[in-house]
Amino acid sequence: MTKTIIIGSGIAGLASAIRMARLGHSVELFEATDRIGGKIAERRFGEFRFDAGPSLLTLPELVLELLDEDLRFQVNRLDVITNYFWEDSTQLKAWNDVEKLSQEIGDNLGVSPEKVKSYLMKSATVYDLTADLFIFGSFHRLKNLLNRKSLKTLLNIGKLKAFKTLHQFNSEELEHPKLVQLFDRYATYNGSNPYQTPATLSVISHLEHNLGAYIPENGMFQITDSLVRQAERLGVSFHLNELVMKVEHSGGKVRGVHTGNGFYEADVVISDVDVHHFYSKLMPDARRLAKVEKEERSSSALIFYWGLNGTFPELDVHNIFFSDHYKEEFRHLFNLKTAHSDPTVYIYISSKYNKSDAPEGGENWFVMVNAPADMGQNWDGLIPQVRQHILGKLERMLKKPLSGKIVAEEILSPPEIWKLTGSVNGSLYGSSSNSRYASFNRHPNFRKDIRGLYFVGGSVHPGGGIPLCLSSAKIVEGLVCEQFQKK
Ligand SMILES: Cc1cc2nc3c(=O)[nH]c(=O)nc-3n(C[C@H](O)[C@H](O)[C@H](O)COP(=O)(O)OP(=O)(O)OC[C@H]3O[C@@H](n4cnc5c(N)ncnc54)[C@H](O)[C@@H]3O)c2cc1C
Repeated sequence: MTKTIIIGSGIAGLASAIRMARLGHSVELFEATDRIGGKIAERRFGEFRFDAGPSLLTLPELVLELLDEDLRFQVNRLDVITNYFWEDSTQLKAWNDVEKLSQEIGDNLGVSPEKVKSYLMKSATVYDLTADLFIFGSFHRLKNLLNRKSLKTLLNIGKLKAFKTLHQFNSEELEHPKLVQLFDRYATYNGSNPYQTPATLSVISHLEHNLGAYIPENGMFQITDSLVRQAERLGVSFHLNELVMKVEHSGGKVRGVHTGNGFYEADVVISDVDVHHFYSKLMPDARRLAKVEKEERSSSALIFYWGLNGTFPELDVHNIFFSDHYKEEFRHLFNLKTAHSDPTVYIYISSKYNKSDAPEGGENWFVMVNAPADMGQNWDGLIPQVRQHILGKLERMLKKPLSGKIVAEEILSPPEIWKLTGSVNGSLYGSSSNSRYASFNRHPNFRKDIRGLYFVGGSVHPGGGIPLCLSSAKIVEGLVCEQFQKK
């Protein structure tokens, strides 16, 4: 029986474990911490429950296809994806329906609904042209480049808008500064800067608006929970609190992994750890590490989990309070590596649809601002400042007192994200897409020179975010099938 070892229990590690077990492999998964799921975690304190990491699900079918019928959970399509607020009291509901969204934008910002629909059609075209090659396939294999679809992508390279930044493209297409800001925001979905990232990233707005945004019935942690149950059912054995220290290879083949408990032999090793950590610790390689370091790290986050005594009917499940100084905010994050005094604030309130996440008369606020990658900043000094800026902004924009309503609080900072998930610098998505070549420079899902060694997760091809991580596991399944059937 083929022996497979998975390093790391993030979503891509769990998906890989399930896929390998279904291929008939004996699968062992090693997780450094005592918690399974990596970034898709939950927190409970007082009478509150919080999804600790991701809060928005697109392409839910990529999770559901991993589960047996009886383990599949209900995913709900939200009516309103996000409630947007600006300092001048403008508000906008981003309906989960292109017609309603375009009308809302027309009514509130005076931009023609046709313009919005045309923008979303263009982002759909970018998706159609890129998805097979850049999201669901590996362009690192020659055979994937030499087919009709890839040729079509190359022939339509102009439509991919790779030579403009997302902000330039949005400014040309959408004109109204608030609408430009709204669609610029999608750069942050993979930790990038809209003033630098190529306009190809407009595909993200296609996923959210054309294909739809979802939430699992019991919150995001249900994803981890269900995948673990599926993996256990398929016989995957979990080693928690067991840090992999080294990956062994010789003669062009992977041999296994070393942990504090000894050596475990394997035919296949799939790494779901940050590829930076992989080449600095698990298989030290200065040349490959330098290549990883050439791409700027993605941004991190500073999150305040607030248990509130009080309810806010003007808020929805997802809410954004925009900075009035968006360009400056990104200059602070990526150039100055610090926080701006007027941050864009994201609030996710799962108790709006799942009442049991907060006590009667209360709400659970996951309050997040983008933060620079951890470079050793003085976080003890920065965190109270950011907290004050957030409270000031929310009280000003909501025109209500807030701080007195916070009855329970926990904080997650970039250094803690690094410590809890092994993501170097606390970056949420590995490297950013701040350069035109970022997707080409992301580490492939395999090594040509080491048979049996594969890579999944947010720091390798095709990139970060739940759907892309799941895609990496699917790509690896295909590669394992090819390589191990060839023998
Ligand atoms: C705050 C936040 C908000 C986000 N919001 C969204 C969102 O709304 N939608 C979305 O799609 N995505 C979102 N993301 C991104 C998404 O969560 C990640 O891209 C994805 O979960 C990463 O999964 P992964 O498979 O790369 O592994 P990770 O979740 O990074 O897990 C890696 C695991 O490997 C373990 N590990 C590391 N080193 C070792 C070792 N040497 N030995 C053994 N184990 C090791 C770690 O302990 C960890 O458990 C968000 C992320 C964060 C943090």
